[in-house]
Amino acid sequence: REKHLPLLRYESGQEEAFIRHHLLYGKLMRALESNQLSLVYQPQVDISSGKLLGVEALARWRDPQEGWIAPAEFIHVAEQSGLIHPLTHWIIRQGIAQCSEWHQTGLDISVSLNLSARCFDDTELVNHLLETLRQTRAKPEWITLELTESTFMDNPEKALRLVKQFHDMGFRISIDDFGTGYSSLAYLKNLNADELKIDRGFVMNLPDSPDDIAIVQSTIHLAHNLGLKVVAEGIETAAASLKLRELGCDIAQGYYYSRPMPPEVLDLWAASVARQHSFDSPEA
Ligand code: C2E
Ligand code: MG
Ligand code: MG
Ligand code: MG
Repeated sequence: REKHLPLLRYESGQEEAFIRHHLLYGKLMRALESNQLSLVYQPQVDISSGKLLGVEALARWRDPQEGWIAPAEFIHVAEQSGLIHPLTHWIIRQGIAQCSEWHQTGLDISVSLNLSARCFDDTELVNHLLETLRQTRAKPEWITLELTESTFMDNPEKALRLVKQFHDMGFRISIDDFGTGYSSLAYLKNLNADELKIDRGFVMNLPDSPDDIAIVQSTIHLAHNLGLKVVAEGIETAAASLKLRELGCDIAQGYYYSRPMPPEVLDLWAASVARQHSFDSPEA
């Protein structure tokens, strides 16, 4: 009994968080079963031409009583409880099926999917990815898997092995939120990554912050020297976009271009961007 006591004691002020966690856990489990979750897609564009290259899939959950619940909150609950595995399976199936549908309608864009660090405990993940590719007839090179640096903290060898497996299966690999976690340049070197995403924290004060300019510029050089494409996330202004373009960034993502959208709205957005392109291009 004595041994279990610490589990039952909470820091004062923690009771509420504990109760909320359990409430959300139950709700999230039911939401997964009853299809209350959805994916929205945020454009990633060529920073020089504005051409739509791909989208990042972001999970959304609207609870009937509580309304929208932030991904940061429910992903955390999912990670703590093991629900992250069925949740990630759902996200993979939904995102890859959508990508396949876009390709069938002639919209040749990539879809980026976020994988949490906990996904590396999932022994069914590789099978699920293969099975989904087979069922949707999607090509793995259409799909980018976004991983954060924290993925490599707990068990670097295992994580590197799995990432190599994804790479060998043909998926593109992206390092998300670069620079915010425990970065080791050795991981970058051994990772077979294709892309590096500069975190919003380094982007939001551009072009005014000389420190952020220095960090972003160095990161872009490093990435390019390693053969990686660079995506900047969280671009909110024309001035930030211009600065990133000047610094040699490849791909842009952020509210300045578009908020994440449901797939049917993305179709309209993509059509209007494509029209814009045919006006801009000399052949038109
Ligand atoms: P992330 O992967 O770094 O995703 C980028 C976040 O920045 C998204 O927040 C996006 O809506 C937001 N964002 C994009 N452009 C801007 C901008 O210009 N300004 C600002 N202020 N924000 C911008 P969201 O959708 O709330 O997701 C937050 C985090 O939750 C994600 O960060 C990711 O770590 C996690 N997440 C979301 N969906 C999934 C998922 O399907 N699976 C997993 N494992 N994690 C997810
Ligand atoms: Mg991401
Ligand atoms: Mg990110
Ligand atoms: Mg981020």
